[in-house]
Amino acid sequence: MKHINVALFVPDEGCPHRCSFCNQKTISGKSKPLTVEDIENAVETALSASDCGDGEIAFFGGSFTAIERNYMLSLLKKAKEYVDRGLFKGIRISTRPDCIDREILDILKEYKVTSVELGCQSMDDEVLSLNERGHTSDDVIKSASLIKEYGFEFGVQMMTGLYGDTNEKALKTAKKLISLKPDTARIYPTVVLENTALAALYEKGVYVPQSTEEAVSLCAELLLMFHEAGIRVIRLGLHSGGNVEDGFVAGAYHPAFREMAESSIYLRRIKDEIVKEKISNGKIEITVGSSYVSMATGQKKSNINELLLMGYTAKIKANSEYKKYEVSVRLTQ
Ligand code: SF4
Repeated sequence: MKHINVALFVPDEGCPHRCSFCNQKTISGKSKPLTVEDIENAVETALSASDCGDGEIAFFGGSFTAIERNYMLSLLKKAKEYVDRGLFKGIRISTRPDCIDREILDILKEYKVTSVELGCQSMDDEVLSLNERGHTSDDVIKSASLIKEYGFEFGVQMMTGLYGDTNEKALKTAKKLISLKPDTARIYPTVVLENTALAALYEKGVYVPQSTEEAVSLCAELLLMFHEAGIRVIRLGLHSGGNVEDGFVAGAYHPAFREMAESSIYLRRIKDEIVKEKISNGKIEITVGSSYVSMATGQKKSNINELLLMGYTAKIKANSEYKKYEVSVRLTQ
């Protein structure tokens, strides 16, 4: 059975606040409200590529549970039809932490929603306030507890490099989110988009965004934290597509952002092993899991080249028994 996911964007709908960084039209490339016909078209297109699927119909963007009630129900009703026919295993939605209560969770259950993601962004109340989120970290804790009580798959989304944020605050945010025991996480380094409050602050020189290199280094740490806690990071970095490139003003954006962070983790692990094995220079053999050779090598051999500058000629060897991020290094000459 082929795993098919259908991602649908609900731009802007229902948002009680305009967050400092948000320009949903630019992120999704959509400016018109999603219609029932859009769902039919997207699902039929996806299904035409395969006989059947066990994936999800996912509503992203906006604040799904805050959109006008009848409109929300019409979208859910249409998606549920496909779940009822056994073509999808469930429905995924994404919403704000202050737009969750028992009444809405009862509705989501009834319409076969299986996964609820919360746009938490930060667990630091000052960062939340400076970025006009309109909710507090306490709202995240309360809604997370309710979502888990109802038995939904639970996902968290966090950002790095927001106005007023620091690496230390981001690490604390990740720690607090991990303590909520989510099943999945998405991490988005801040990208300054045109027509946002953040763009105005950036232009005034009040806000300095993270560079891509800074964000890669921080996100590598965050990725490891979630990984070690057994939480799947299902997205790292804003997805390309939509109009992000056109609306880009500044900040940490790269289409291969995740690969860069994964490679950075491998480089750190390799360096740690070199120190542990007390290898001062020479030819080294680095062993990693079979699926992770390109991560260990780095984009355009960046890790191999950096090791060369440090005095090591490195060769990567694959071993199917090695787990993700497991590395060993030995001197071959
Ligand atoms: S809640 Fe989400 S969709 Fe709404 S303005 Fe904020 S970031 Fe954008």
